[in-house]
Amino acid sequence: MDISKIITTLIAATSPLILQPAAAAVITCSAANVTVTYQQVENAAIACAALQQTMAQFETCGLPPLINPISINIVEALQAGYVGLYHLGKDKIEVLSPSAMLERWNADSAFSGVDITTFFKSAITHELSHAATDDIPCPFASCMARDEYIAYAMQVLSLDPDALSAFEETSHIDRLISTDELSPAIMFMAPNLFAQKVWAHFQQRDDGCAFIGQLVRGESIIDIAPF
Ligand SMILES: [Zn+2]
Repeated sequence: MDISKIITTLIAATSPLILQPAAAAVITCSAANVTVTYQQVENAAIACAALQQTMAQFETCGLPPLINPISINIVEALQAGYVGLYHLGKDKIEVLSPSAMLERWNADSAFSGVDITTFFKSAITHELSHAATDDIPCPFASCMARDEYIAYAMQVLSLDPDALSAFEETSHIDRLISTDELSPAIMFMAPNLFAQKVWAHFQQRDDGCAFIGQLVRGESIIDIAPF
């Protein structure tokens, strides 16, 4: 039997979120012009489900919609220290497959209490957030703290209640977080702590999504001018 037919049938049986595959290992999600390159079809289905959920989240949380075609490549290897990457200006995401993520799983991760499939899905939300904010003007050379704030807030917001409880239990932050604590320096030196502080700060606003909107419009700035 033709292998491509088997894969097509498998995809059709697995997920209504996916249109017909353009080739054996590339499919287009039905929710938007997003292609997913994959090795295991179940991972492609999760990626398309993440896309659909993330687009709804963007709409309710002050983020621009995903307009440009985006490619999500589910890969088995990625440069050290990363589980996902967004290539600025190229509308291209690379994310490790769940099994490859497990191989570099770190007990110190802010997401260490979250199961790997849920984490994989949330990592796609994180990278899609970078795609959504790619064209937002920045008054400095880089607005990485802003962009990571938005990406982590969207990532944690995407978690189901059990996974969210696990994330919050790991973080142990029970005090008010000021905007000053969300600096680029903390983001670079302690990215897990930064993610935990982002979620605490987001939760402590009357309306966390309103703060996201302020970041997007440049009304709140958490990056700092270079000396
Ligand atoms: Zn990021």
